Formats: sequence, structure tokens, C-alpha cells
Amino acid sequence: MTVVTRFAPSPTGMLHVGGVRTALYSWLYARRMGGRFILRIEDTDRERSTQEAVRVILDGMRWLGLDHDEGPYYQSERFGRYREVLERMLAEGTAYRCYCTKEELEAMRAQQLARKEKPRYSGACRDRTEPRPGVEPVIRFRNPQEGTVVVDDLVHGQVVFQNAELDDLIIARSDGTPTYNFCVVVDDMDMGVTHVIRGDDHLNNTPRQMNMLRALGATPPAYAHVPMILGPDGTKLSKRHGAVSVLQYQEEGFLPDALLNYLVRLGWSHGDQELFTREEMIAAFDIRDVNKAASTFNPEKLLWLNQQHMMRMEPARIVPHLRYQLERLGIDTDDTELLQGVIVAQRERTRTLKEMAEKSRYFFVDEIDLDPKAAAKHLTRETAPVLEQVQARLERLAQWTASAIHDELSALAEQLGVGLGKVAQPLRVAVSGGTVSPPIDQTVALLGRDRTLARLERALQTARSNGAS
Ligand code: GLU
Repeated sequence: MTVVTRFAPSPTGMLHVGGVRTALYSWLYARRMGGRFILRIEDTDRERSTQEAVRVILDGMRWLGLDHDEGPYYQSERFGRYREVLERMLAEGTAYRCYCTKEELEAMRAQQLARKEKPRYSGACRDRTEPRPGVEPVIRFRNPQEGTVVVDDLVHGQVVFQNAELDDLIIARSDGTPTYNFCVVVDDMDMGVTHVIRGDDHLNNTPRQMNMLRALGATPPAYAHVPMILGPDGTKLSKRHGAVSVLQYQEEGFLPDALLNYLVRLGWSHGDQELFTREEMIAAFDIRDVNKAASTFNPEKLLWLNQQHMMRMEPARIVPHLRYQLERLGIDTDDTELLQGVIVAQRERTRTLKEMAEKSRYFFVDEIDLDPKAAAKHLTRETAPVLEQVQARLERLAQWTASAIHDELSALAEQLGVGLGKVAQPLRVAVSGGTVSPPIDQTVALLGRDRTLARLERALQTARSNGAS
């Protein structure tokens, strides 16, 4: 049997990490089993669905590299099909028209509450054959009244529901539009979904959906309800905890692989392995190993993982992500060699690509700004002679490599009888504008001869005219 999974978000809010983890588990399971992964946009709620939320889903999935084999399907384009299935169920008697008015339903509810019963539809129209003039009916599913529905959940184990507890669900409103639970059933059936992997807030819908599938002659798929992600304060992860649009993680400078690695481990483990490449995740993942208990979102750990991925990934694969961040700073560069060099030089000292870009501007711009405090301290009349000697030595340098630069600077420090820092720090301010950069030899090597010498010349002018000390 070919495994078919789907990710079926409702575009009513922005796709955030909770939804992404569900998508990831569905995608991983399909990839692991050599199956198919479907993307389906559940946009039947026309009032609450937005184009922007759809865009975030599509762009987010693309950025994450969670590629689908089918879709995206849009439920809003399938109303004809839902209508057809409704007609079939009415004809077969597995659904019926209900003419109860709002007032009658409210009275029913009040009586049940007065009797201390759980409010539910009484089934008043189950056997009704005649229409009721002046009332547009809804359509209800004829749920079995006896017996149980057993969900063999791949995460939670066996969960048993009593049919007597499930009332006859409305599957089409009086204006004819199908309801959410019904559309899911028709889609999962039509699309041949074999494994439904979704949040465990849907577990209570599952017995109803299984009953409807059986009424349609279909075999229910396997279900896996994954537990929620909680915020650090133990409540369901929400906007308050920064559960923002997935695309914000791109803006904040996370690698998609790092975010996926972080999310896969929230609720799933493989021995004590923390770091997974995409391929390793696919090879090791099994939906049956997902924990029942909710897990807590930890932004610090995500940052740690992001840096770990930056350190391990081929620099060439990081280049597009750094370019994206630089573009956001108004820097457009296609100097791949420089980009790769900066990645290697900076990845030990930055945790996100946004931070890396911000700390690396001086590698990519023609004119740098000197930090006034750093210049006042390190570009002075006292350091001017040191910088002149640096300039003279670098001008003569035959090979512009980090090791040749290192040798020159060390030789100069020795000649002057000072520590390397006394030479390196003024030079660092001269070429980067500030006091923090990767090792000076690496920084200067990456900047190249022309930029370095031009900046040294400018810094010397500043130093000579700097009255301090
Ligand atoms: N559309 C539902 C949601 O976004 C998911 C339904 C399902 O996976 O069955 O919560």
C-alpha cells in the first residue's frame, strides 16, 4: 500500500510553528515510506480565510522545502463535489434534512440542560419525510445510535467513543454550504489519504469522520493525533509567545533545516540524537514514535540549533540565505566567493543569518562608517605610525592570503616590541569601522587588497588629525 498523507491547513490565521510541525510530520512520514504528500487548503470558511494566510502557507512550505506531490487543492473549488456526495447520502438515507428552527433547537437545549443532560440534537427530524413550508432545512448525518467507534491512534493508542454520545452532525447549512467535518471526509476519501496526521485538538472529530467514511463505503485511514506545542508558560503556544507567521523565522535569519530539526525533536526522539539533517530525519522518523505529551517551545534551543546547522552546512548552501539577509539591509551582491568566505569566518560568532549579515556589512559596502568611539580610541596620532607600517608591509605583500597577512602583522608586532593586539586593533577599526570582527588576518584577506589599502589610507587621515592623547 502506498502511504498518502496530507497537510490540510485552514487559512484563517498565519501558519506558525505548530502547523509547521504537523506539516513536517506528515511530509516526513510520506517521504520515509516512499509515499505521497498532499497539500490541501481548507478554505471553506470564506469569511475567516484570507489570501494573505494562503500566501504564507505556500511561501512558507516552499521556504521550508516541504514539497508536495499533489495539490494545492482548495476546498472552495470543490463545492460541486460536496454537493454530489450530499445528494448521494440523502438518497441512500445516511443523511437527512432537518427542519428544526433555531427556536426549537434552543428550547430542546434548555430542556436538556434543565434535566442535567448533555445538550445534543434529539433526532426530531430523523424520520421526517415531509418538508416544512417556509423552513430551509439543514442536512444532518445519520450517526449510528448504538455501539462504539474505536480510534486506533498511532500516537495516543486506542481511544473509544460511544455512538450514543455523538449527535447527528450538520453536514450542510440551510444555505446549502457544506460544513468543515464533512468536507474533510469527502477529501480524505477522494484523495486516497491513508494516514491522517494532525493536531490532537481534532481527536474529537475523528469518530464522526470515521462514521461518515463508513457510511460512504470507504475504509477510514489510520490516524495520528500529535500533541500540542506549549509556550514557555505552559499554555497553548499562541501569538503571545511569539508564535508568529513561519515566514518571520526566515526574516529572523533561521535556516529552514534548523527550524525543521528543532520542530521534529519537539515530541519525537531518536536515541539522544539532537542534530539531524533532512536526510537523517527522513531515515529515522516514524510517526509511531511521537510522544503523547505536549512539549514546550524553547527559543534558546532553536537559536543553538540554528548555529549548529550554520556550522555544519556546506557554505555554498548557506549563500542564498545570507544574500537574502543582505538584501534586506540594502546590499546586493553576487560575489559567491566573498559570501562563502564571510560565512566561514562569521558562523562561529553568530547564531542567525540576520545577525551575520548585520555584523558583516563592511565586507560588502564600498564606504564604511567609522564607529566614533572606536576611532577615537584606536585611530590616534599614537597609532598612526603603526598603521603606516602596516600599510607599507601590506602594500608590498606578494600573496594576499590570511597566512601571509598573519606573518606580516606578527613580524611587525615583534619589531615594535608590542603584542599582536596593538597592531591588530587599529587595523581592525580601520578596515571594519569597529572593534569586533573575525580574526584580523582572515578579515583582511577576505576584504582584498584594494579595499583594505583604501580603508587604511582613510583611517590614517583620521588618525593623523585625531587630537586625542
Ligand atoms: N484544517 C484543519 C486545521 O487547520 C486541519 C484538519 C485536518 O487535518 O483534518 O486545523
